Amino acid sequence: MNLDRRNFFKFAAAIGASTLLAKEGLDSIEMKQYAVIDGSLLADLHTHPSRNASIEDQLDTFSKGINGITSLLGIERYVKYEDLVLLKEVEEIDKGLFARVVYKGGLGYIINTQEVEALKPSLHILALGCRKRIYDHQDPRDIVEDIHLQNGVAILNHPFVVPSGDKFRYRLLNRYEESKMRELLDMVNQVEIYNGQCIDIFFGIQQGVLGRINMQKANKKAQKLVEGTRFKGSAASDTHGELAQVRTSGILIPNNYVSLEGIKDCIINNRFERYEGKISVPSFFLGHFGYKFGR
Ligand SMILES: [Zn+2]
Repeated sequence: MNLDRRNFFKFAAAIGASTLLAKEGLDSIEMKQYAVIDGSLLADLHTHPSRNASIEDQLDTFSKGINGITSLLGIERYVKYEDLVLLKEVEEIDKGLFARVVYKGGLGYIINTQEVEALKPSLHILALGCRKRIYDHQDPRDIVEDIHLQNGVAILNHPFVVPSGDKFRYRLLNRYEESKMRELLDMVNQVEIYNGQCIDIFFGIQQGVLGRINMQKANKKAQKLVEGTRFKGSAASDTHGELAQVRTSGILIPNNYVSLEGIKDCIINNRFERYEGKISVPSFFLGHFGYKFGR
């Protein structure tokens, strides 16, 4: 653990402050993981859990529900599907894409998903069911085309949020980017309209700096975006680091669709219910900055 004292105290103070705010009842500090809701398995298709968690904790998490293990090109600190399938508790059903995880009496599934970052605008597209890695920084339309050529399914992740390249990390789309994003709706199979990381951290204030970091508005815009369209809109935790965030949100898959082709069918044909859960504020901070302290 590379402990830079000054940064560590800043980090601890941020968690402390956010927890305090949360205790005021403005943002819940409760966070709950689900495997089954109303008799259906919860599928959280978009997650980036840290590989620093113990193998036992990883197996415990992935042997429940359906868990998308989402790769980001060039980022090594997250769990990889390819590593999990080497474990004896994991048995592949569709090579490279979908596997069952049996551990301590639990039965869950992992599904290999990719998050691909486009260029102009830097939209994030989730590829499900693709064996070949799709490269970042291509025209978003080319990315979706590649997904479809591989017989995969394309979900437009958090449609109103793109990386900002500054210390705030994310920002809303500008007007030009929004028009490009809307064009892409003709091509994708689904839109993620609830992203678990788009939360209000400080009282939901929308002015200045706080307006930049309070991102619940991005989900609200996404929900409006799909009104009257062919999309039902999906939900995912977009887990960063913390295993405890996995399956706090997701989509419910009917029991007779629990297979790679079945899940793809559900996404394409709106055959799911959305579950919109919460990431707690302290967990959000741990997830986004904890890796700097070995978490
Ligand atoms: Zn993501």
